[in-house]
Amino acid sequence: MPKKYIIAIDQGTTSSRVVVVNKEGDVLYKEQMPVAINETRNGEILQDPQELIDSVLVLLDRTFKRHQIDPNEVCSIGITNQRETTIMWDKNTGKAFYNVISWQSKHTIDITNDWISRGYEEMVLRKTGLKINPYFSASKIKYILDVCKPNIDNVMFGTVDTYLLWHLTKRQVFKTDITNASRTLLYNIFEEKWDDEILEKFEIPKSILPEVVDTDDYFGDFEYNGVKIPINAMIGDQQSSLFGHQCFNEGDLKATYGTGCFILINTNSTPVISSSGLLTTPAWKIGGKTTYALEGSVFMAGAVVQWLRDDLKILRSANESEQMALKSNTNDIYVVPAFVGLGTPYWDSQVRASILGINRKTNQNDIIRAALNSIGYQIEDVLKILKHEMNREITSISSDGGASRNNYLLQFQADISNLRVIQTKEMEVTALGAAYIAGLKSGFWKNQQEIERNKKIKQLFYPRINENERNRLYSNWKRAVEATISFRPMK
Ligand code: ADP
Repeated sequence: MPKKYIIAIDQGTTSSRVVVVNKEGDVLYKEQMPVAINETRNGEILQDPQELIDSVLVLLDRTFKRHQIDPNEVCSIGITNQRETTIMWDKNTGKAFYNVISWQSKHTIDITNDWISRGYEEMVLRKTGLKINPYFSASKIKYILDVCKPNIDNVMFGTVDTYLLWHLTKRQVFKTDITNASRTLLYNIFEEKWDDEILEKFEIPKSILPEVVDTDDYFGDFEYNGVKIPINAMIGDQQSSLFGHQCFNEGDLKATYGTGCFILINTNSTPVISSSGLLTTPAWKIGGKTTYALEGSVFMAGAVVQWLRDDLKILRSANESEQMALKSNTNDIYVVPAFVGLGTPYWDSQVRASILGINRKTNQNDIIRAALNSIGYQIEDVLKILKHEMNREITSISSDGGASRNNYLLQFQADISNLRVIQTKEMEVTALGAAYIAGLKSGFWKNQQEIERNKKIKQLFYPRINENERNRLYSNWKRAVEATISFRPMK
C-alpha cells in the first residue's frame, strides 16, 4: 500500500494534538483534546501523567477511525512536545512517583537558589547554554528525588517526549533527543552528552536519564491494529516550529505569538553564548549535523489580549481586538504588560504593569491598540538583543501562534521592527516541523528542497512608517518601560 501520510503528535501544555500531513505539507486532519493543568496551594503547577499519555492514545485512535486511515498508509510518526516538563516513574510498574511537574512551575526555586549560592552558575551556562532557573528540569528532578526518596535502581526520568515514547513503544524504548535533553540543565551542548560534573554537583544519578540521540532517528515502532509504524523524529516544540517554518538557514527567525512569545533564530553550526540572558539551544541534530539556535522569550503576548477580554472585559473575543485597534487613531498610549515582571532584556521580576499617556478622550479602542502594540514592542526588544549578539541584520519574521492571526499586530510588528513579517497559511507549524523531520528520515520527502516547495504563505506585511516615526515610537516605549520600572510602591 502506498505511503500517503505522516502523523505528528504535538503534546503541549494545554492540549494534545495529532495531525495528519500529506506529501504537499498540508495538515489534512487534526484531532485535539485539552489537558488539565493544576496549581496547588504551595504554587506547584502539575499535570496528570496518565492524562498526557491517554490523551495521545485516544487521539491517535480517533485519527485512524474518524478519517478512515489505514495504518499501512502512514509512513512514519514524529513527536513534538512541551519542553522541560518533568516526569519520573518506576521502570517496573510504570507508575509515576509524582505528578508531572510543568515547566511553568517555579516552586523549586529554593533548590536553584542553593545551586546559585554554591557558585555553579557560570559553569552551568558554559556547558548548557542556560541560566540556572526552576524553569528547566534539573531542580524538578531533585525535588521529586528528595520528596519521594524512590529506590534509584527503579527510577526513570523523562521529559514528555521520553515518557510518550516509552508508552508508545510498549515500554521498550527509553530515549530522548538532543533538543529535549538540552532543556534539562544537565546536558552539555558542546560535548553532546549528559554532563558528569553537573550531575555530581546537583546530586542526580546518571542511571535515571534516557539515552540521548539525534532528532531524526529510529525511535522504535508504534503498533496500531497489528501494523508497526516507525517513530522517526522527536523534537521540543519551539525548535519544531523553527523547522516547520523552514528556518533552515543562519539568520532565519520565527516568532510564535501564543500566550507568551518564543523567538528563535537559526545560528547554524555556532552555539552563540549570550551575555544578555538569551538561551543557547540546539535547534536540531539531523543527518548527524547539529544546528543551533538562540532563543528569547516574552512572558506576556496573547495573554495581554486575554486580560483585556476576561478581566478588563473590554473585548468579547480575542479576534475582535483587530477591528477595535483599527478604530483607534493613536499610538501615543503605552501599555507596559509587566503582569509577572519583565523578561529580556530587563529581567525585573518585581515591576508591575502600567498604562501611560491616557487623556480625557482615551477610549477602549485606544487601550486595546496600545496593548497589541506592547506585544510588538516587547518582541522588538528581543530582536534588538538578537541582532547585537549575532552581529547581523534580520530580514524577516515567520510568525505563528494564536495572536499571529491578528493582521493589525503583524503590521505593527513590521512597522516597529522595520522588517517583513510572514503569516503562514498553516496554523499547526509546530506539528509540521516534527512531521517534516520524520518524513525526511523515512524517505517520504527526499530532501529539504522538496519540503521547501510546500511552503504556503497567507500574507506578507511590510513596514509602512518612516524612520523618524519608528524611532519616536520606540524611544517612547523605552521611556514608558523606564517609568514603569521606577515606580516602586511602598508595601
Ligand atoms: P498557547 O499555545 O500558548 O496556548 P495559542 O497559540 O493557542 O497559545 O494562542 C492563544 C493566545 O493568542 C491567547 O492568549 C489569545 O488571547 C491570543 N489570541 C488569539 N487570537 C488572537 C487575535 N486574533 N488577536 C490577538 N490575540 C489573539
